[in-house]
Parts: sequence; structure tokens; C-alpha cells
Amino acid sequence: MNRQQEHTLILSPIGDLDTALLEQITRALISVFGFPVHIMPLIEDLDFAFEWQRRQYHSTLILEVLEQKAPTDALKILAVTREDLFIPILTHVYGEAQLGGRTSIISTYRLKEGMGSGRRDKEYQARVIKEAIHEMGHTFNLRHCKDPGCIMHYCHSVADVDRKSDTLCRYCTILLDDERKRLTGG
Ligand SMILES: [Zn+2]
Ligand SMILES: [Zn+2]
Repeated sequence: MNRQQEHTLILSPIGDLDTALLEQITRALISVFGFPVHIMPLIEDLDFAFEWQRRQYHSTLILEVLEQKAPTDALKILAVTREDLFIPILTHVYGEAQLGGRTSIISTYRLKEGMGSGRRDKEYQARVIKEAIHEMGHTFNLRHCKDPGCIMHYCHSVADVDRKSDTLCRYCTILLDDERKRLTGG
């Protein structure tokens, strides 16, 4: 086994995504989680997860396929799509993750909300990065946090996303450190 690959995070774009945005997500993941990040497309199209009645994509099904397609030695996987995601009990989700598992996904679809037609790239990118860290955080066994400023705080709306910071609170930082030690055996 290639030891270099063992503790690698995979950022997996589905379809066309802005390269600069992917690079920003990469930098954010490296800085928060402290593992190398490789960009690796794993899924080409999402037809298998499309639900005609809702005209949305079922994120849980996508996570299952990601798990099958990911290299066995990859530590965690975050997929990014521009399509609208849902889980059956909710009208839509910004993302989904397997708590303490390997796979997570975010959708950029609803993160442009409230931005009008003007180009407000910075605000949009900030939202995408926050959601990326949040969902990846769940795979590191972090649950929702009561601190409204913490990146692991649950968001009902983009206003909530804007309000929270892009960092973990002190408590979640300790939990992440413990999980990192457990995973790397150090
Ligand atoms: Zn969450
Ligand atoms: Zn927290």
C-alpha cells in the first residue's frame, strides 16, 4: 500500500465546477483538517439519484455510490455538485455526510440565494467553503454544535450560513484533534 495515500482527503467535483473555487475549498480543508487533499472526480453524472417528482437529487444515494467508487485507502471524501440535493424528510439540503464515516457532499445550488444578479463572488465562495468544512467535519465525527458562531452549527438558511464563522469553536477543535489522533494512531 502506498503510505502517502493513507491519510488523504479527496475533493471530488461532480460535473463542471469552477477551478478557483475547488482550489479555495482545497486550501480550507487542508488548513482545518491538516491532511493533504487530492482533487479526484469519482462520479460523472447523477441520473441514478434523480427523483422526477421533486426534480432534485437524493444525496444519500450519491453518498453510497461515492463510498463504492472511492479509493479504499482514502481517509475521507467530499463531493461537490451544482445540482439541488434533498433527503426525503427535508425540502432541500446544502449537504449531507455520514457521521464518522468516509463520505460527504455539498451542493452549491442554493448558496447563491439572496445575492441578486450582481456578482458577489466572495460571499458566495465563503458560503461554499463553510458548507464544505461543515460536512467534512461530520465525517470526522463532529455533531451539530450549539454555538451559533461555530462552523458545526446547523443552518436553516443562507442567513445562518453567513452568520457563522468558518472555524470550529474551542470545544469542536478538541473533539477534532482527538479524532485526528485516533485516525492516525498518533
Ligand atoms: Zn450538519
Ligand atoms: Zn462547535
